[in-house]
Amino acid sequence: MTNREEFLRTIGYGEAAVAQLRRNENAAYPRNYELWYNYCAGFNHALNRAVNDILRAKGRIETAELQAIYNQFISPSRLSDRIEDVGGRISGEIDGVMAAMSKTITANASYAGTLSEASTELSAGPDLSRLRGIVGELLVATEETEKINRELEGQLADSHRQISELKESLESLRFETLTDELTTLANRKHFDQSLERAVANAAETDSVLSLLITDIDNFKSFNDSFGHQTGDQVLRLVALSVKQAIKGHHLACRYGGEEFAIIMPKTSLSRAETLAERIRTSVKEKELKKRSTGETLGFVTVSVGVATYHRGDTAISLIERADTALYLAKRAGRNRVCTEAMLAATAEDA
Ligand code: GH3
Ligand code: MG
Ligand code: MG
Repeated sequence: MTNREEFLRTIGYGEAAVAQLRRNENAAYPRNYELWYNYCAGFNHALNRAVNDILRAKGRIETAELQAIYNQFISPSRLSDRIEDVGGRISGEIDGVMAAMSKTITANASYAGTLSEASTELSAGPDLSRLRGIVGELLVATEETEKINRELEGQLADSHRQISELKESLESLRFETLTDELTTLANRKHFDQSLERAVANAAETDSVLSLLITDIDNFKSFNDSFGHQTGDQVLRLVALSVKQAIKGHHLACRYGGEEFAIIMPKTSLSRAETLAERIRTSVKEKELKKRSTGETLGFVTVSVGVATYHRGDTAISLIERADTALYLAKRAGRNRVCTEAMLAATAEDA
């Protein structure tokens, strides 16, 4: 597309977006504009559906509704913005609680001072007229202190609510930072952290731990023939086979582009091999169809490498053995499972 064509196409979306801002009387803030721009360009089907539902029901869309749609369909991709937002709100809550606490501490100290002055005066045996004054001062000081304590209680109750909400937001952010968007499996960062922990645990408790790495066969040529988007659907499908094969205590991850890894605590090499075989069979039996046209795309297969923890292993050495087993499966013709036991046999043959 030439610069001129690009200009004409995008200026058209921009003008349509401004027309929507006018029609709906939404303030022309960049966020509102961005939402309408996306709507007019039609990139984001889910967003358009949400907007159309409201337009159909009410004829126009309020700015607050626009914000809610923005948060749901545009800002989720801006993880860093949301982390910053939650972080800022947590630190705001902490500042509020600290300020209320320090006000209360000062008030309580001053109340203690008033009490001790009154006690000194009373023990000196004051006359009756002064006694009335002391009681009056004590009443005022008590009321003031109670008021400040009630303020702190209110602030604490409010912060408790806010912090519980923020805790939930943080939990969902943490989940997102550890999840691969395309397949909803754990992402590489989650894998790295979990494998380190699993290896340390296997070493401490002297328990078994296996690792499986699977790689789609000839996936480049599949992508070249049918396109990247269809390739992405296949990745989802393979991820589904992986999810369906694993047990609750296993962790399946998107290890690389078209590679998946499964961390399997409490699982011996032979049980891991059985599971790998199940995944391989499940994938090869699924006939692929293009969703939009129903066109048949044939089948894909996977190769799998399996390794198991040995005393002295690190996460890296365990990955290396699973990778070498995977390489052996590829060299042996693909669409097969190889374990580290086969590596030893191959080395002996050589
Ligand atoms: P082999 O059997 O040796 O694994 O062959 P291959 O073609 O699968 O291996 P290679 O590593 O050469 O290519 C991997 C290909 O996977 C490259 C790319 O086209 C594809 N791929 C990687 N990540 C993604 C992704 O996120 N989406 C899609 N659609 N394709 C991806
Ligand atoms: Mg690969
Ligand atoms: Mg591959």
